[in-house]
Amino acid sequence: MCGIFGYVGKKNNAAEIVLEGLKRLEYRGYDSWGVVVEDKACLRVERKAGKIGEAKVSLPSSHVGLGHTRWATHGGVTVQNSHPHLDCTETIALVHNGIVENFSELKKELKEKHRFTSETDTEVIVHLLEDLIQTKNFSEAMREAFKKLIGLNAVVSLKGNQLVVAKNGSPIVLGFGEGEFFVSSDASAILPYTKNVAFLEDNQAAVLDASGIKVFNLSTGVEIEPKTQKLDWEPESAELGNFPHFMVKEIYEQPKILEGIIKTSSRQVEELADFIRSSYGAFLVGCGTAAHAALTGQYLFSRIAKRHVNFNVGSEFGYLEHFLTPRSLVVALSQSGETIDIIDSIKLALEKGAKVASLTNVLGSTLYRMSDYKILLGAGPEKSVCATKSFTAKIALLFLIASQLSGTGKEGVRILEQTVREIKRLLDKETVEKIEKLAEKIKDKNHIYIVGRGLSYPVSMEAALKIKEVSYIHAEGFPGGELKHGVIALIEPETPCLVFAPNDETYGGIISGAMEMKARGGHIIGVSFKDADVFDDWIKVEDTGDGTAITNSIVGQLLAYFLAVKRKCDPDKPRNLAKSVTVK
Ligand code: GLU
Repeated sequence: MCGIFGYVGKKNNAAEIVLEGLKRLEYRGYDSWGVVVEDKACLRVERKAGKIGEAKVSLPSSHVGLGHTRWATHGGVTVQNSHPHLDCTETIALVHNGIVENFSELKKELKEKHRFTSETDTEVIVHLLEDLIQTKNFSEAMREAFKKLIGLNAVVSLKGNQLVVAKNGSPIVLGFGEGEFFVSSDASAILPYTKNVAFLEDNQAAVLDASGIKVFNLSTGVEIEPKTQKLDWEPESAELGNFPHFMVKEIYEQPKILEGIIKTSSRQVEELADFIRSSYGAFLVGCGTAAHAALTGQYLFSRIAKRHVNFNVGSEFGYLEHFLTPRSLVVALSQSGETIDIIDSIKLALEKGAKVASLTNVLGSTLYRMSDYKILLGAGPEKSVCATKSFTAKIALLFLIASQLSGTGKEGVRILEQTVREIKRLLDKETVEKIEKLAEKIKDKNHIYIVGRGLSYPVSMEAALKIKEVSYIHAEGFPGGELKHGVIALIEPETPCLVFAPNDETYGGIISGAMEMKARGGHIIGVSFKDADVFDDWIKVEDTGDGTAITNSIVGQLLAYFLAVKRKCDPDKPRNLAKSVTVK
């Protein structure tokens, strides 16, 4: 987690450039932030606890700067613990993403000679660097210091007019502008300046100064030609535009993204379908929202392609490694392509000789680079911490792949087109206002229960996750059939119960469950193609076959969004969360 942004180049307002970069990265961590610039051979630092918001910095003009937004792992959320951290001579500044697993051992030794001012694991790195720089140049010292660290880490350090980077874990993107160079945790933050980027690989280091960027092998120090690529995202796609929050902006982007998938993905869909066809044992893995997309995929492959594709949560997948053989295929789902539990699953699969395919939103991400076969979601930068558009993009692709596998590819496209039309109708005023009113009605409740069966079961889990993440109301999604095996004990008068009742084989069963909840006083909110007596409130979602999994999810997203807004929570930066989970 955390956001890193560094600048070196012809402009002299490095502090402002870095601050703007951090604002674009804040979704990655927002416990505290800090910026450092070099000024007449001295380092000038500004650090604050809390979100950046509209913050300004009052640092001197400089051609080199470095900043960080923190997601605390070691040490509380305080100014002292925020990055950048300085060495004792205050000539080296350092920011860090990850966890130094052996930091206590290192600290024990370093404490004899050095003054520590924070509780972080990070600070040991800057003091290590301080010792090593006595006998080595900046870049060599960084490589040597980095080699002493155990764990998955990305580190950027500033000294003089140079930035030095090293990594073996978290993502680092290098940006090549005209006479200016950037280092960032995420390409979207560099986008306003340049589309020419290179993704630093694990076990690589880089040195940035006004003359350019050099990349090295971390272990040997041998220089490597960076592999630059051109981003195809537009800078506006990472800006808010007229929307009050990224979450709602991204909800509204969904029709366009799905249209893009229909238009451009047919060849890749065919290829991945072939890949799945020739595998013997296929697994879908994801974490959080991506896990719900993976579970939706399991249902889609079963009902459309009559194929068993196993679903598993990324963090649990390692415990099932014994199933993997060289004929297995693991399909990994991750918006960022950096989710540590997914990367670990993939490493394991590759060790076992299995093949790996991935659905990710980030070109050049770790997952993208590690996969034998990859499809980009094409959803554009997703800035809201909770995933919306990347979820439906994954489901759309899995739906098209399942249709392709069953030989009904054209029919799949037709259903998806119809689904897009229905999403546009849902996002039109009437339904949105209805959902907003519903949010007003239930915003002070402590619990919301959400049920669905079959394809609507993962949809109900995803709706519950969205509500939990952004409104902090306890919400639980579960299979409708499980009601009487326990959860019904919790239904009290006026408890909101959201019921997904699409026009499929689950309709009868789910309505019976709704009746049972109503008999215990539950407030039944039906999301369905037709009204039913049991519904106290009804959100109409037209039948679009299996595409209803997408449209129903959008109702869940909108409800979660309005619940957050009405409860005065920031939907884009939920407490304790960060966008890309790169630590275990
Ligand atoms: N482990 C470091 C800390 O707690 C870095 C956390 C991060 O990646 O933001 O300060």
